[in-house]
Order: sequence, then C-alpha cells, then structure tokens
Amino acid sequence: MSNIVQQDILQQLKQLQKDAETALAHAKSAEATRNWYSEYLSRKGRLTGILRNLGSLSAAERPLVGKVANEVKAVLENALQERQAAIAQAELEAVRRAESIDVTLPGRPQNLGKLHITTRALRDIYAIFTAMGFQIYDSPEVETDEYNFQLLNMPPGHPARDMWDTFYTTTPGLLLRTHTSPGQIHAMREYAPEPIRVILPGKCYRYEQVTARSESMFYQVEGLAVGKHITFSDLKGVLINFANQMYGEGREARFRKSYFPFTEPSVEMDIACILCNGKGCPICKYTGWLEILGAGVVHPRVLEYGGYDPTEFSGFAFGMGPERMALQKYSIDDIRYFYTNDVRLLERV
Ligand SMILES: [Zn+2]
Repeated sequence: MSNIVQQDILQQLKQLQKDAETALAHAKSAEATRNWYSEYLSRKGRLTGILRNLGSLSAAERPLVGKVANEVKAVLENALQERQAAIAQAELEAVRRAESIDVTLPGRPQNLGKLHITTRALRDIYAIFTAMGFQIYDSPEVETDEYNFQLLNMPPGHPARDMWDTFYTTTPGLLLRTHTSPGQIHAMREYAPEPIRVILPGKCYRYEQVTARSESMFYQVEGLAVGKHITFSDLKGVLINFANQMYGEGREARFRKSYFPFTEPSVEMDIACILCNGKGCPICKYTGWLEILGAGVVHPRVLEYGGYDPTEFSGFAFGMGPERMALQKYSIDDIRYFYTNDVRLLERV
C-alpha cells in the first residue's frame, strides 16, 4: 500500500521538476525568478508541500523519497542560479546597446540661425558711427506731441505735420513717434551746453497704407552733432565717410536740396546704385541713384529748444532707414517680407 504512496510522491516530484523547469525557462526578469522561487522552492512552495506527505511513508521508504527530493531541489537551485545569471547578463547587454554611441556615424547638420537683416544693417551703422566718435542714445517710442512736432519746429497746424500722420494713444497729446528726431531734443536737453555727437536708433510708426515700399512700423537711425563751428562741410564729410564704409570706398554720392522743418538747409543724400553702378535698374527706378538718407544743418530754433544758443552753437542732423538700406543692398522688392518671418528670406540674404 505504502509503496503506491511512495510511487505517487516520486511521480509528483518528477512532475514538479518538469513544471518548474518549464516555468523557469519563461522567466525573463529578476522579479520573475523571485516569483518562481517562492512558488516552487520556498517554505510555502510546492516542493515543501509534497514533502509534507513524507509522514505517510514507512521509515524504509523515506530515504529514497528524501534523496530524490534533495536531487530535485539541487537541480532546480542550480537552474535558478544559471537563469539569474543569464538574465543579469541580458539586462547588462541591453543597457550597453541602448547607451552605445557609434562614433563612425556622420553627424546631423545643425541649422545655424542668423541675425535678421535689419539687425545686421543696424549693427553695421552703429559700428561705422561709433568709430567716428558718435554715441548711441536711446529715446522713447511713445512721445508727446511737443517732442515729436512742436520742439522740431512744427507747431500745431503746421502743414509739414501732414507728412507724418501717426497712431495716437487715448491720452491726449501722447503718440507713437513718427521719427527718431524727438530724440535730438532729449539728447540736447540732457547735454547742453556740452558738444554732442550721437546716433539715435529705434522704431518709428506711421499711420499710412502698408505697401511694398512702406510699413506702418519701421526703424530709423537719427544722427546729431552739436558744437561750435560745425558747418555743412562737416555734415558732408561724415556722411561721405559713412557711405564709403557702408557701401564700399569710392562710391559716388550726391546731395540734393530738400526740406525738413527742423533743418535749414536740408538735403537728401543719394549714392550711385549699388546694383547697376549707375546704369539704371528696377531697384533705382532707372535713375542710377539710390536715396539713402535725409540731412541738414540743425534749425536755429531747434537748437534753442534744445538749450543751445544758436548764435554760438551750430550742428547737423541726419536720418536714415536701415530697412530701406537692406532692401537695396539685398535687392529685396518688398519691405513687408521683413516682418512676415518667412525663413526663406532670411536664408537668402
Ligand atoms: Zn540701379
């Protein structure tokens, strides 16, 4: 009778070994092997469960069953160790593969950004004028009517105001500046009666139709020199030097008479077209000349408003549009491209 029980237990041990080996082969992680151990080999595991029946065997039968049980246990423990080692090795390999760097792979090209054309034009202008001793002077974009017009010799009702319609704020008398010229008054009032050499860059606003040639917001760089014995020749010298550096030495330049309320006399400066060298092309509208800036000798009244005695002091001022200059330099046919953020434009120039 008990021989049958012995056979049954031995059968169970064999089955247990088979089940355990199959399950272990499917364990793919350290955690799975721990679960496997607790199911088969732990105190509450299946092997212990089988051995609990040893009591039903006779003293003669127990040694054989005990021996087989120990063999099964040893085989499974060995298998477990091998499996754990294999899993650890595989995990290490996976980490190695994930972190490996193939140094022979070609690098991915990085798209380097570049400065906007307006910024580049501004920086070129700054470099040239600061080398001539001009300082960069910052002045506000929101101005009073007084600074934007009146102190520049345009009292209310002055017809020249029609050239500069702007955006008005809800506060009466406060507006977005139409030009950087009010900065001249700020600079003069800050430095009078000291001599001045400044450039005043910044954004300006005009209430006008946006076209290929004009935007409602644009940059301007104003320049101002005030001192004793400053003449129109100084103005010409500075601006010709500027044009030589901006557009290349020896570029032909000319001054045409013009009108600004805050300078007298006033001029516009042209340079020989940089694209056709004066032969005539669409950019210069077949005139051979490009207008680059307006300038003049500071009006005595403006000097006075700025705090200088016009019988003792004189000065010159000029204003230029860096965007217009960039349009010409890179033969861009529409100023609206500057603010549409189309990367193709930036890649082209
Ligand atoms: Zn031309």
